[in-house]
Amino acid sequence: MIKEKGILFVLSGPSGVGKGTVRKALFEQDTELRYSISMTTRNPREGEEDGIDYFFKSRDEFEKLVSEGELIEYAEYANNYYGTPKAYVEQTLEEGKDVFLEIEVNGALQVRENFPEGVFVFLIPPSLEELKDRIVSRGTETEDKIKARLEAARGEIDMMDKYDYVVVNDDIDHAVEKVQSIVVSEHCKRSRV
Ligand code: 5GP
Repeated sequence: MIKEKGILFVLSGPSGVGKGTVRKALFEQDTELRYSISMTTRNPREGEEDGIDYFFKSRDEFEKLVSEGELIEYAEYANNYYGTPKAYVEQTLEEGKDVFLEIEVNGALQVRENFPEGVFVFLIPPSLEELKDRIVSRGTETEDKIKARLEAARGEIDMMDKYDYVVVNDDIDHAVEKVQSIVVSEHCKRSRV
C-alpha cells in the first residue's frame, strides 16, 4: 500500500449548528486525525484555553500573520477574525497525516481554492429555528450577536451545494458516525495497492 500525503478534511456550516460538538466527539474516538487549532481575535469564552481551543491573538497580531502569508484562509465573522495556520496544515499533510479543520463557510471556500483535493463536509441544522434555539441556549452571546450569527447562517446554508458531503446534525451520535464514515470512505477511495 502506498501511503501518500494526508487528507485534508474540512467541517463547515453555520455557527451554532454543533460543529464544535461534533468535532470534539469525533476526536474522542478517532485519534488518527490531527485537529488544526485556529487563530482568532475573539475573547476566550469561559473555560477556553490559549493553544487548545484557539490561539488567541490581538487584531494587530492577526493582521501581521495575514500580511506575512501565515494563514491558508481567514475570515471576519461576527466582528472577529478567524484563520487557519498554514505551516501546521502543510507540514502535517506532508507527513502523511490527515488534518481536520472546523471553520466557517467563507474560510472553507478559500481552502477549497488552494486545496481542491480536500474533502468538504457541510453540517446543517434540521431547521433555522433549531439553530436559533441552540445559539440562545448556549447563553454566551448578546441579542445583537445572535442576530448577526443567524443572518450569517442564512447566507451560509445557501453554499451547501459547493460541498462534497452534507450531514444533518439532528442527533450528535449520528452526525459523528456519518463524518467517520466519510473519513473511512475517502481513505478507501484513495488507497492504492
Ligand atoms: P466561535 O466564536 O463560536 O468559536 O466560532 C465562530 C465561527 O468561526 C464558527 O463557525 C467556527 O467554526 C469558525 N471558525 C473557527 N476557526 C476558524 C478558522 O480558522 N477559520 C474560519 N474561517 N472560521 C473559523
